[in-house]
Amino acid sequence: MLHEVPFEEVLSDLRRLGARRVLIQSPEGLRREAEELAEFLEREGIEAILHGEVNYGACDPADAEAKRLGCDALIHLGHSYMRLSLEVPTIFIPAFARVDVVLALERNLREIKKLGRRIILVTTAQHIHQLRRARAFLEKAGFKVVIGRGDSRVSWPGQVLGCNFSAARLDGDGILFIGAGTFHPLGVALATGKRVLAVNPYSGDALWMDEMAERFIRKRWAQIAKAMDARRFGVVVSTKKGQLRLAEASRIVRLLREHGREAMLIAMDEISYSKLEGFSFDAYVVVACPRVPIDDVENWRKPVLTPPEVEILLGLRTDYKFDEIRG
Ligand code: SAH
Ligand code: SF4
Repeated sequence: MLHEVPFEEVLSDLRRLGARRVLIQSPEGLRREAEELAEFLEREGIEAILHGEVNYGACDPADAEAKRLGCDALIHLGHSYMRLSLEVPTIFIPAFARVDVVLALERNLREIKKLGRRIILVTTAQHIHQLRRARAFLEKAGFKVVIGRGDSRVSWPGQVLGCNFSAARLDGDGILFIGAGTFHPLGVALATGKRVLAVNPYSGDALWMDEMAERFIRKRWAQIAKAMDARRFGVVVSTKKGQLRLAEASRIVRLLREHGREAMLIAMDEISYSKLEGFSFDAYVVVACPRVPIDDVENWRKPVLTPPEVEILLGLRTDYKFDEIRG
């Protein structure tokens, strides 16, 4: 359940920009809201075009497409602002969840106490508007709460992305993550090395990430082992604006070559193994959204690694490091 899209605010922003035609980008879960917004804008005399490609994050704004379509602005639904150089004015409309996070904190107070007294508090954009309430509740319960500013890739203090845990890098006893899913709290645990408790405001459950982090690292070591004898590596970059890490990809190519492997850069927009079937590479490295080689690993018939995993493979690193895009 999400907050409604602020139609009137969007309209006044567009009027201020003098926009006559706009492109509306949306993630899978907000397709209907995108349609409603388009209908509303059309009634107000602004031509709206729905972007049919699925969008995964603010890292992938369709600003260049908007420009090519002759649009004066882009509306990016579902994700918060990310600092990128954009070709048309872009209105980011994050999707804030309605669920009450304090109820779930109340219910799990006993577990939260196990984190220690000084708690680092993090969440995703969906619940960021309730972070202040969460902090007040925890302080009243006797905790010292610290919230990190994060780097320039995130929009708000305390916000983590699947590719950026900078807001969690603070001095504290343990980390409290508020939100659904396991990818973000797992990333927080692996990026900081601290104990993480994930409180899910939808189910009301709390989950310690230790065991999952261990299992995750074991699986990734197995993936690295599978790539150990690979001779030819395809190093994949994405042309999505906020995922393009060409310097890092070139560094990985260089490292592989220096260590006697063959390596070639591959550029793609949407990354999927099926598109790569015709190539003869023995293994791949994805230097784009760090979630792709992890979430989607089951779809790859060849080993697929992150950049820090290549460093492990080549014997340049011994500890496991989660891949991140720093701002
Ligand atoms: N932006 C969100 C994550 C969205 S879901 C966050 O920061 O938390 C992330 C998923 O989007 C990945 O697991 C992958 O399935 C998909 N994705 C992201 N970028 C992609 C790309 N360039 N190619 C293919 N899939 C991508
Ligand atoms: Fe989300 Fe991946 Fe984009 Fe980061 S790069 S914002 S994790 S989709």
